Amino acid sequence: MFEPTSRPMTDYGGFHQSNGIYWRFVPQDVGTLWAGLSEVKARGMAVRVRGAGHSMNGSSIPRSGEVLIETRGLDSYVFTRPGTITVGAGATMWDVQRLLEPLGYELLVLNDGNAPASTVGGYVSAGGFGAESWRHGGFWESVESIDIVTLEGAVRTVARADPLFSWLFGSMGQLCIIVSATLAVRPRAGGDATFPLGKRGRVPASRHTWEKTIWFSAFVPRPVWGEARRALAAIGERHGHMWQARPAYAYSLPFGRFTPPLIHPAQQDLVAVGIWGEAPEGGFDHAAVRALDADFTLWLRAHPDFRRYAQTELLYPGFDIAAHFGPECFARFREWKNQLDPSGRLAPGLLDLPAQRASA
Ligand SMILES: Cc1cc2nc3c(=O)[nH]c(=O)nc-3n(C[C@H](O)[C@H](O)[C@H](O)COP(=O)(O)OP(=O)(O)OC[C@H]3O[C@@H](n4cnc5c(N)ncnc54)[C@H](O)[C@@H]3O)c2cc1C
Repeated sequence: MFEPTSRPMTDYGGFHQSNGIYWRFVPQDVGTLWAGLSEVKARGMAVRVRGAGHSMNGSSIPRSGEVLIETRGLDSYVFTRPGTITVGAGATMWDVQRLLEPLGYELLVLNDGNAPASTVGGYVSAGGFGAESWRHGGFWESVESIDIVTLEGAVRTVARADPLFSWLFGSMGQLCIIVSATLAVRPRAGGDATFPLGKRGRVPASRHTWEKTIWFSAFVPRPVWGEARRALAAIGERHGHMWQARPAYAYSLPFGRFTPPLIHPAQQDLVAVGIWGEAPEGGFDHAAVRALDADFTLWLRAHPDFRRYAQTELLYPGFDIAAHFGPECFARFREWKNQLDPSGRLAPGLLDLPAQRASA
């Protein structure tokens, strides 16, 4: 069931790389996942979860001796309740959208870029926002419930009213394995399609090769977003030699029901502002990237009400995850961690980034 390999694995940034032997486990359905997890439990093995590997912080990279669960086979879907789709954690958000379109429906929020990137489980683990967020808010506002399993074998449907619900968004694979999620869908503009109640199947997977970019984003309170974007753009310009910069972005995230604590402590309208760019000729020079990162970090420190989108970004060894979340939020996150993963076998070492740099 588990295949040992020492094949180096990197994440999207290519900066973090696995080191040593790990065990690959690619369950093709929920039944196989259960069977694998009971073996993992019996052997007391450590586990890491990987969706599409589109994050850049090293959290989806297996450490030596770990079982790496790759979720792509968890791609089933079913329309059980009007206005929603329940979909496996390993399907990409984009592929779910492509499945819905011919049926006359669409997701409210998905990753930007019009191509497959984050899986459903990876998007929850990041937090998530996209092109339609100005209308529907962060991804978390359009999720009805999340089905999880813990390494202890507990199976749970975490609905909106569950105190755990808000902590799953942005949790970076630290708390549990997300098996599937029930997402709100809406009829496409001008559509009058009958809701496909009861329809089920597997989400066809598509592929896309993305150009390598690096981004630095911050969630900021709406009243200061313009100023924040200008300041961030100025930081990008000061380090203009490190990349082929693209225009700074801003995603409005109107407050709906809640803001996940791991995204931002304030329950108010937010804007995700950011700068990004492609690799210059010859690739990224990490000394230059770190210099920008250092300026970005100083800027964030001067604005305690800004939060970095650390769940998705390139983080260097030494990034202080506890300071990033703040003592109170981090303590509560740890409480959930202790409750759901008391043996600490899921993604051990909360974001202790592998010190090793990818050679590629
Ligand atoms: C080209 C590109 C475009 C992007 N666009 C956007 C965007 O528009 N909006 C946005 O918000 N983000 C965007 N991102 C960031 C992306 O959404 C996040 O990095 C997301 O976490 C990637 O999902 P993944 O499936 O690749 O997860 P991975 O990178 O494989 O894993 C990320 C984390 O999630 C955990 N995880 C993954 N699946 C599960 C699961 N089933 N159960 C438990 N934990 C799990 C992993 O352990 C890891 O900690 C983009 C990234 C790229 C590279």
